[in-house]
Amino acid sequence: MRASAEQIHRSSLGRGVGLLMVALAAMAVIVTMLAWRARATLEDLRRADYINNVLPAMTTLMEDLLNAETGQRGYLLTQRTSYLQPYRDAMRNLDRRVEELRERDQDPAHAAKLARVRELVQLKMGELSQTLRLHDSGREEQAMEMILGDQGQHHMDELRDVLGELTSSMRAERAAISARLGVEASHTELLMLAGLAMLGLFTLLATTQLVLRSRDLVRTQRRLKGIADNVPALICHYDAKGLVRFANAEVGRVFHVDPATLDGHSLDKVRGIENAERMRPYFERALRGEAVEFDAEQVIDGETLHFHQRFVPELSGGRFEGFYACSMDITERKRAEERVAASERRMKAVTDNLPVFIAYIDARRCLRYANETLRTWYGLDPQAAIGLHIDEVFGVASTGERSAQLALSLGGERVEFEVTSTMLGKQRHLRSVYVPDVGADGRVQGIFTLSIDITVMKQAEAQLARLASSDALTGLPNRREFDQALGGALTRQRRLAREGRVMALLFLDIDRFKSINDTHGHGVGDTVLREFAQVLRRAVRGSDHVARIAGDEFVAVLEGLNRPEEAEQVAAKIVEAVRAARPAELAISTSIGVATVADGEAPAMDLIALADRALYQAKHQGRDGWAALQWPGPDQRR
Ligand code: GH3
Ligand code: MG
Repeated sequence: MRASAEQIHRSSLGRGVGLLMVALAAMAVIVTMLAWRARATLEDLRRADYINNVLPAMTTLMEDLLNAETGQRGYLLTQRTSYLQPYRDAMRNLDRRVEELRERDQDPAHAAKLARVRELVQLKMGELSQTLRLHDSGREEQAMEMILGDQGQHHMDELRDVLGELTSSMRAERAAISARLGVEASHTELLMLAGLAMLGLFTLLATTQLVLRSRDLVRTQRRLKGIADNVPALICHYDAKGLVRFANAEVGRVFHVDPATLDGHSLDKVRGIENAERMRPYFERALRGEAVEFDAEQVIDGETLHFHQRFVPELSGGRFEGFYACSMDITERKRAEERVAASERRMKAVTDNLPVFIAYIDARRCLRYANETLRTWYGLDPQAAIGLHIDEVFGVASTGERSAQLALSLGGERVEFEVTSTMLGKQRHLRSVYVPDVGADGRVQGIFTLSIDITVMKQAEAQLARLASSDALTGLPNRREFDQALGGALTRQRRLAREGRVMALLFLDIDRFKSINDTHGHGVGDTVLREFAQVLRRAVRGSDHVARIAGDEFVAVLEGLNRPEEAEQVAAKIVEAVRAARPAELAISTSIGVATVADGEAPAMDLIALADRALYQAKHQGRDGWAALQWPGPDQRR
């Protein structure tokens, strides 16, 4: 907070200083203009001063020349030496004046004229002194001629003219200068006024800017405090000595203190000694200028709360000035994490003790979770297997058996299937479900797999199937199984018929079986039935179907016979075998009805009826023998 306030302060100061710089630059321009103008004015003043000096000098020059001329003329005309003194004084002065004029020869405007003045004065002075020398050497007439001659007069006239021109030119220049100076003075005044106005304006603006900015600063500080007071976090600022300089409202709310009263106090006062002790090591690191982040428990009103804390050093120009402490109450999160962990523990206990294999495989086909069953079935530690590719965990052969299902479920489909795998040398029949784990973005993150060992169930199922299809007494297939076998045989016969093959159904019934039961009891009767089954089984080919379909009734389906007579030969063989096998005390024999079919079109029921009819005939012929009928028999002929 302090950092941002300082920033604002700096920026407002910057703006104020900026405006002042603009004002100073403007002032510098004005001063430069003023200086430039002052130089021009000074030049004008110097020029005016020069003119002011020169103009009286011209007058004096003329006066001196006239005085010299007057002295010369007076002396020459009166011969009085008293005229010589003013003459000499004037001539001396004129020498000086001529020298002064030489100095002024540099004057660009009047140089030529001044040079001419100097020449004319020198000529006049030469003429004056020459007339005196002629007079003093006794040549008075010659001297008078010179005085009266035009030459001297001409020089004086020219001198007068030149001086007149010079004087008027200088006067005009002086007038121009004085006019210019008047204008200059008013411009300078205006410039100075403008400069002052600008300086005032910019100073006003800069001051306003500073005032506005400092108002902003105060407002921002108030806002920041408002924010700090309303965030669901504990915010403190400690100075370099570790004393509180700011604490937000949340600190007051959590620790039941007025944040304002914490100013200048230590950590102990804010947190209480015990809580402060838990934070001490981090606090000391922060005081050394380190940024620290940690979780710490704090006991408040006897309740243990968890805080995630962060200490951020405050540096100003590389100098450590203190640090900010920001603490977030993460108790709820911690508790939720504990609840999740407990739930996970319970889940693990449940899944580990289920007779199922549960696993999670990620999209890269690496194992991410497996329950304890992994140890029982595959002999692997579930923890150690985490992160391994499934080929490494289950073996390439095993994953290969499931490759289609893995691909489908990783493609987003739920797959349910049965598979047989050999694990640790034991064959297990499994029923598996692969459920894709689809993320919020719709992509499959991995798959949950659940496999149940149904080996025992499968065995029981096979047993049941066997029981359902076989006769419990003899172990031969029962009526139901026979019906199926007959259907299959008839279908095959349709093809075999084209090769000229014949199929036969033998219907067997033990002769006078009732009397065996009656005479020797049911137990003996059962034994007879079992023995009969054995004899029958042995008498036909292994590929022929044999079944017990009721009490003392048996059937045999013979396939792939070359002729119908072959069936009769088999029937005769059975009859003979039964005779051969019977014990002396039991008069066991069988009658057999043979139904043969050369094509495959006979309906099963018709064929059974035909065999039954043949059996009836065999019984009727005196039993212990066989009778044969071919399909279609008289009943089936159309
Ligand atoms: P036929 O020569 O005309 O066949 O005379 P039969 O006495 O054998 O007469 P039938 O075939 O009708 O009699 C069959 C008998 O078989 C009737 C029944 O009591 C007996 N039986 C049926 N099932 C069993 C069984 O599971 N065990 C025993 N011991 N006897 C059975
Ligand atoms: Mg019988």
